[in-house]
Amino acid sequence: MASAHYIFGCVDCDLQRSYDSPAGDYAYQLLDGQQLPMLTGPSWCADCRNLSPAERLPSAEGEAALLKTLLCLRLDMANLLKEVPKKRPWWQFYAKPVNGLNQLESQISQQEQQLDAYRTLRAALAERASPARCLLCGSTDHQPLTLPTKPDQPQVLSITHPGCGGQLTVQISKQRTQKLGQKQLFDLEGRQFQNS
Ligand SMILES: [Zn+2]
Ligand SMILES: [Zn+2]
Repeated sequence: MASAHYIFGCVDCDLQRSYDSPAGDYAYQLLDGQQLPMLTGPSWCADCRNLSPAERLPSAEGEAALLKTLLCLRLDMANLLKEVPKKRPWWQFYAKPVNGLNQLESQISQQEQQLDAYRTLRAALAERASPARCLLCGSTDHQPLTLPTKPDQPQVLSITHPGCGGQLTVQISKQRTQKLGQKQLFDLEGRQFQNS
């Protein structure tokens, strides 16, 4: 997965924190040794008093949103295929790929994989008792921050910089960073395994 680089700031002070998404190689390890990739996002952690990567727990709403995107893509595909026979006979259709068809196919298969992984993770975490944790200190006292989808536009978040009162901002940075660090493993309650 390609990683993107973000800069968080504050409208009232010179706070500047960078964040890479995905934050790192975080995974849950099940009792049988199987590993499931964790969903993560930036949070303001009250205990770290800093921006930190945090868990995002899968939810019914999250699954519904992924499913909706998949259904929209499939509808696009159906519409695209419906138009084809009117324009040209089928042998030409197979001989020459339709514009956008391959791209749509790969988008659909990516979306299907993402939905599958999400469902597997949600099922694995069905018995989860504790809320999402900060991945640096394990605290559950943190406020999730959203990442912008539009490039180049700094976005003011509806979250204030604790202890300062200014509103937090975020923007995508053009700077690319290479991901380093090793895989970190957690149990299904989000507690890090202390083996190394
Ligand atoms: Zn501030
Ligand atoms: Zn923390």
